[in-house]
Amino acid sequence: MPRLVLFSCLVISGLAAATSEAVETVRFRESGLSNGAPLRGDQPRTVVGEILVEAQDGGLMLMSDDGRIWSIEPDQIIERTSDETELVPITTDEMERRMLEELPEGFRVYRTNDYLIFHNTTDDYVRAVGTLFQQLHRSFFTYWKNQRWDLPPPRFPLVALVFATRADFTRHAQADIGDTANNVIGYYHLSSNRMTTYKVQNLERNVATIIHEATHQLAYNCGMQTRFADNPMWVSEGLATYFESPDISNPRKWRGIGRVNQINLARWRKYVPGRPDESLVTLLADDTRYRNSSTAINAYAEGWALTYFLIKTKRKEYVEYLRQLSASRPLESSSKRERIEMFEQAFGSSVAEIDRAMVTYLRRVR
Ligand SMILES: [Zn+2]
Repeated sequence: MPRLVLFSCLVISGLAAATSEAVETVRFRESGLSNGAPLRGDQPRTVVGEILVEAQDGGLMLMSDDGRIWSIEPDQIIERTSDETELVPITTDEMERRMLEELPEGFRVYRTNDYLIFHNTTDDYVRAVGTLFQQLHRSFFTYWKNQRWDLPPPRFPLVALVFATRADFTRHAQADIGDTANNVIGYYHLSSNRMTTYKVQNLERNVATIIHEATHQLAYNCGMQTRFADNPMWVSEGLATYFESPDISNPRKWRGIGRVNQINLARWRKYVPGRPDESLVTLLADDTRYRNSSTAINAYAEGWALTYFLIKTKRKEYVEYLRQLSASRPLESSSKRERIEMFEQAFGSSVAEIDRAMVTYLRRVR
């Protein structure tokens, strides 16, 4: 099953310009939309954060001091004050306090160097998951540093949730991602900024999924990608599938960056004979193929193939392209044409040229 980057829908229309550097305190009544925080019914909520987007009608997209993103409609706002200071992210201790207060009885925290993992599963299991996260974290930053991209450390504490059972997980995930919860074993949630999973039967067989979702979380937390910006899905999913490739010889000790993703390579090979001429254009222009379950598998395969090809043969241009994308702002979108133009400019070739070179290159990949 393809894994999707999921987010709750935003109903902010008529965007105003991006906003100033100030800390906002907003008291508001919640709507039915969740960002992973339990709804409080009629009790108003107060959050402190920075405004990412302010709509002309007064609607807000706000990032709170724990890294969550809230979208607040004008009629939900009760009170709003502004203070000309900079947002101070909460500490890991404060994150622990807030999370334990929010989570059901029986949850504990397991801390690693860079993560707070809240769980109600066994110590052995959460330790194994923590080890994977840390291996990814180390490899991820080293990898980009070697490409001369010194990414800043995450601004907010990185949080993961690990449920003991599939049933607990599904119940929780329903509120975040709806019925998709039934088809996934883990997900990264853009507005809560958390990755969530459960104690799977066979961790080794599921390492790729865990790494995949944790890669999304890192990419959105180190300045590489901006949440709710116009991130082409082939880029987000291409990166995650590039990083997830398990080390077949020792899956528990994942150290896989850049290995061939055999599952996606096999899907790509199956796709190639009937692949439409405009396949790459449709992949680049918008995210339709990823969002439609009948075309998603081939889109994931092609996104992996493109990412693999670009990193192996045009790495400098690829990193430069990612850097350009990293400057995107939340809720700004680009047209199909703009996406294609940016791509062609970044790689100094037409889509048709890249297509031919990619197909040829992938024939030799084993
Ligand atoms: Zn993904």
